[in-house]
Amino acid sequence: MNNYHPETVCVQGGYAPGNGEPRQIPIIQSTTFKYATSEDMGKLFDLEASGYFYSRLQNPTCDYVAAKIAALEGGTAAMLTSSGQAANFFALFNLCSCGDHIVASSSIYGGTFNLISVTMAKMGVEATFVSPDCTAEELNAAFRPNTRAVFGETIANPALTVLDIEKFAAAAHSHGVPLIVDNTFATPVNCRPFDWGADIVTHSTTKYMDGHGAAVGGAVVDSGKFDWMAHADKFPGLCTPDESYHGVTYAEKFGTEGAFITKCTAQLMRDLGSTPSPQSAFYLNLGLESLHVRMARHCENGQSVAEFLAAHPKVASVSYCGLPEDKYHALAEKYLPRGSCGVVSFELKGGREAAGAFMRHLKLAAIETHVADARTCCLNPASSTHRQMTDEQLSAAGIPAGLIRISCGLESGEDLIADIRQALEAVV
Ligand SMILES: *Cc1c(COP(=O)(O)O)cnc(C)c1O
Repeated sequence: MNNYHPETVCVQGGYAPGNGEPRQIPIIQSTTFKYATSEDMGKLFDLEASGYFYSRLQNPTCDYVAAKIAALEGGTAAMLTSSGQAANFFALFNLCSCGDHIVASSSIYGGTFNLISVTMAKMGVEATFVSPDCTAEELNAAFRPNTRAVFGETIANPALTVLDIEKFAAAAHSHGVPLIVDNTFATPVNCRPFDWGADIVTHSTTKYMDGHGAAVGGAVVDSGKFDWMAHADKFPGLCTPDESYHGVTYAEKFGTEGAFITKCTAQLMRDLGSTPSPQSAFYLNLGLESLHVRMARHCENGQSVAEFLAAHPKVASVSYCGLPEDKYHALAEKYLPRGSCGVVSFELKGGREAAGAFMRHLKLAAIETHVADARTCCLNPASSTHRQMTDEQLSAAGIPAGLIRISCGLESGEDLIADIRQALEAVV
């Protein structure tokens, strides 16, 4: 499938039925799989043969969908997880343990920021956060001898900053560690981080990949390009025998193409069990089949809404990298030539009150803590996710009280703009 255009992979990747087999991906709703002899099953446990034995580790339905996502990203292997949070934790924890260190962009999803700065800190993994706009010198200064990975988001949720992937990859590689990129908002339809030097890609498939608000999920994808053995001192988990798995050395046995995902499955999924249900994987695949068609419309609606807002007298500012005056426009032209996403954020001049009134008058855009859905939705962080903060604290954090994040869905762009126009008229 790697030779086909992304549009074809979205529709047909990952699963190739034989004669008389189901055309649609079968939902293998079974926890377990049968074998004729204990010897047959023993080979699976020794990782000597590949096959299914228990759906906490692997399930055929989930693997078909993971293979499609791997092909879309141009990677060599992928796994599904039960959520985007699990995907990011697995990607990081597959590389580091107590006493190690991570360099991360400060402009990332709040849940991932908590994961790294609070929960992983409790596990003894330290982190240094750097601005995505930092210079190469500032970025290099964040590394320590125990740094094991660099992390950033192609388009950050909710800040909408665009990551200079080549800059972050160069710094990571000069320190002998991989770059992990969360590609949730761009999706492989609009950006393939591996083409720019990233080594591991993660997704919250809950967002555009599912796209219908139907199933929470995540994915981890390996480019197969990082040479673990060349940095064996940094990655003992991949480059020395795993006593919990019959002494296998993942980087030797599965090579650069397979080591990362095999270890992630055999160790982390085995022990932590953040596995998606086959039914959820099936829903995710339905979303993937139209991802390329939907992304184009999300971007078209995002662009027209951003342009309309930017020209409106009651709007103080708009963040959308598709606008020529946006701070991230040049990076978007390089990394996101086909479009970015449907999420736009803007600030109303009237602050918190105006934001509340505006959102009360919207008829099409529902108020939700969700983004990247077929249905347009919006959120005022000051009155919801960040409501414990004062107006002063909010502006210091770069989230003014009047800020609204709107995730443009797949409705008619004209209807969306008409709805926004009438709601803005109602704001004093
Ligand atoms: C939503 C989101 C996550 C977390 O994903 P869940 O599926 O909600 O666990 C991680 N990264 C980004 C960029 C997100 O938007």
